[in-house]
Amino acid sequence: VGTAATEVTVGAELGALRDYVDGLEALKATAHLLGWDEKTKMPHKAAAGRARQKGLLAGMYHQRFTSPETLRLIEGVENVDPDNVEARLVRRDYEIATKLPEEHVVEFTQAASLANHAWESAREQDDFTIFEPHLSKVLELSRRSAQYFGYETEPYDALHDQFEEGSRAAELEPLFEQLRSPINALIDRQPEPDTSALERTYPIADQVAYCERIADAIGYDLQAGRIDETVHPFCTNIGPYDVRLTTRYQEDWLPAALFSVIHEAGHGIYEQAFDRLELPAVTGQAPGLGMHESQSRMYENTIGRSRAFWEYHYGELQRTFPGALGSVDLDGFVRQINTAQRSFIRVEADELTYNLHIAVRFELERAMVNGDLEAKDLPGAWNDTFEKWLGMRPPSDREGCLQDVHWTGLFGYFPTYTLGNVYAAQFVEECERAIGPFEDHLRRGEIAPIREWFDEHVYRHGRTLTGKEFVQRITGGPVDAGPLIRSLEQKFG
Ligand code: ZN
Repeated sequence: VGTAATEVTVGAELGALRDYVDGLEALKATAHLLGWDEKTKMPHKAAAGRARQKGLLAGMYHQRFTSPETLRLIEGVENVDPDNVEARLVRRDYEIATKLPEEHVVEFTQAASLANHAWESAREQDDFTIFEPHLSKVLELSRRSAQYFGYETEPYDALHDQFEEGSRAAELEPLFEQLRSPINALIDRQPEPDTSALERTYPIADQVAYCERIADAIGYDLQAGRIDETVHPFCTNIGPYDVRLTTRYQEDWLPAALFSVIHEAGHGIYEQAFDRLELPAVTGQAPGLGMHESQSRMYENTIGRSRAFWEYHYGELQRTFPGALGSVDLDGFVRQINTAQRSFIRVEADELTYNLHIAVRFELERAMVNGDLEAKDLPGAWNDTFEKWLGMRPPSDREGCLQDVHWTGLFGYFPTYTLGNVYAAQFVEECERAIGPFEDHLRRGEIAPIREWFDEHVYRHGRTLTGKEFVQRITGGPVDAGPLIRSLEQKFG
């Protein structure tokens, strides 16, 4: 893609489809910019006006994308090149966008919005009964969406496929099962966590400057992006050469900003590659959330929490925060950024226990979507399932089934977090076979050999392969938790 050879074969039909998609992307970019502004800079009182602007743009996009013109351009390419990958991808998007009847989409959007408000109060007051009727409604509508999308073996697959194409519940179940006892055995061996050095005073202005330096050092291009402050960190692709990160600074907790910046920079490096490698808009995207998360988690955990990485960078970190870290040696710091213990809250979970939290959610949402679990029975089922995976029972619904926002409309999303960890470990094993151990590079401050391998084997292919196909192509085998277990055993064992 983007080479002289392929440029020659771009016929008039494909050119027309690309132009059309570029126009749609520009519309989307405008909406993304409004969304970024809303979460970083927008004055509080502007919320209602902004909601109207975003709704208008979303409507324009949907109307334009689902119009007969889109189908005409897709068919134009298919007529001259039946196997064209860009036409195939736009057709898939088109079919997804047109499968749900408009009145269903409207009903779903309203129900999800109401469910969101109800969930906020329910969590605040630790009262599941406030959320229950809304969960019941959103669940019923999600089950109906699954029927509209269609599936081969179970309704859950239809929803999960929207986030991770080709991934199936029947394959996820043994994957999670494979993780259960090795991870629990490792957690049992962990010492009592001590993170006292990370809770000292880290002046915000120094954190802002340091986070920019570390993002730059791992390969995030600040000339094609920026880092701003927000409440819940995210990465957003605004448009060509504009991929932005956000983070949250906490004066008495260094990891909040440091590791969220490294995590989001991992997403950003992936997104920036599509411009750098000159992929067309249709293919220049990640194929799913699991693949995206594989990069953010690789940068955050495999690279950013490794001893070798800090062998190179720790001196500068100490010089930036002499008051907090002056008396902490490298090993002490590395130990403190790699603690692990069981806890009730997913977003505070560490690298080791995280996948068990996801297993709980996968099992429950699969049962709900497939009709084996009703909204009213969720709190009890949550506690039983949590105990099965983590060996303890939440003391309240606030620390149990009410903690996450996802079930106000996003059923099928959760497994992508664990797929990201699994993919990352599989890719890292292959990458190390090719370029040697990461630590040999990181110790010298070298990141380029890693990124070049990912350019070649992952980024360059955009979304022309699914996550599962990437794994097959790169490793020669199926999605497998073995490499993840090995890497966790190496670190936490
Ligand atoms: Zn992420």
